[in-house]
Amino acid sequence: MSSPIEINERQYPGMPSSTAIVICLDGSQKEYFEEASKLNLTPNIDSFKKNGEDLLVNSAIPSFTNPNNISIVTGRPSSVHGICGNFFYTPSTGEEVMMNDPQFLRAPTIFQKYYEQGAKIAIVTAKDKLRKLLSHGLKFNESRAICFSSEKSDQANLSENGIEEVNKWLGMEVPNVYSQGLSEFVMAAGVKILNEFNPDIMYLSTTDFIQHKYAPGDEVANAFYAMFDRYIGQLNVNNNSIIVTADHGMQPKSRSDGSPNAIFLQDILDEALGKNISKVILPITDPYVVHHGALGSFATVYLSDKSKINDAIEEINKIEDIEVVLTNKEGCAQYDLPTDRMGDIICMSSQNSTIGSAEKAHDLSKLKEPLRSHGGLHEREVPFISNKKINLNDANIKLNNYDAFYHAISGAM
Ligand SMILES: [Zn+2]
Repeated sequence: MSSPIEINERQYPGMPSSTAIVICLDGSQKEYFEEASKLNLTPNIDSFKKNGEDLLVNSAIPSFTNPNNISIVTGRPSSVHGICGNFFYTPSTGEEVMMNDPQFLRAPTIFQKYYEQGAKIAIVTAKDKLRKLLSHGLKFNESRAICFSSEKSDQANLSENGIEEVNKWLGMEVPNVYSQGLSEFVMAAGVKILNEFNPDIMYLSTTDFIQHKYAPGDEVANAFYAMFDRYIGQLNVNNNSIIVTADHGMQPKSRSDGSPNAIFLQDILDEALGKNISKVILPITDPYVVHHGALGSFATVYLSDKSKINDAIEEINKIEDIEVVLTNKEGCAQYDLPTDRMGDIICMSSQNSTIGSAEKAHDLSKLKEPLRSHGGLHEREVPFISNKKINLNDANIKLNNYDAFYHAISGAM
């Protein structure tokens, strides 16, 4: 057995003897699995739950995609790795900077550290926005690393991705970015990579297109989980260790008339404090807003006049559907966030409501179905399903989704 590897102040077991596989099944609130299981659509997952582990764990806050994917691959929360949303705001310049570039990453990934010890690493992600962060520190010229996205699978090449002609190799065209095909592509590629490349560590990260549109138990959602389960069966070979978790859950956030249940916080604060005093930042905002209209349950507020922080907190506290209102210091301490990438105030809304900025700033015309979204505490709890028993030293400690690689690698020793 090789010696342990220290990564971000945690001792990981050495090199696994079979493949350690972690799957981040984007937006998988536990009810999706439960509903599909009732119809016997997920026999492989059901056998994992019975013979391995069926746990509920915490995701990182904000319960968004990028912060949680990066937490999973570094084994640590945002306070350590720095990625706390899709972008951060710089008050001095008014700039909103996308955080999908590795220069914003403050911690090495588990992949990088294992790669340096000689491991073979494979990563497939649905959306390309995560790819550069996930592959940071890997070298693609030694035939030991593969990392590409389904979204830009046609652009994959040996020097940047460690693989080329992906679509021909897999026999699948580039899927539409707003389709379940993007996630199926990830799973199909994972199976083929496992069989042909035999990685030591593999990470598969899907997209939550289905979960934003369809509730648990919906026919389309059930078909998605049945598809997923078929690929799981093909990964569950050769004593591989598999952990299935999620970046966040998903809750319905619309009113009874079908319109999005949104608190337009910028409008409220402008009215109460005056124009240009506050700036509401929604870190869910990204170029792919079609399925959530940039409405999630987490916001941070910057104030140009710091003496108004308490007044702003008082105003926000009056809003019935906002459950958490904290100062930067309190919020970052409680939810492991990086203080320098958060505003003066951190707030989260209730289970069925979202926080917007100014009403006119949101283009909701492309939202076809009633809004389903995430970002707050009600989407924090996610499944953590393992095909192996996990050695939990203290049953009272609630795991995090970012403990996935630690336990997947331990199970593959
Ligand atoms: Zn997500």
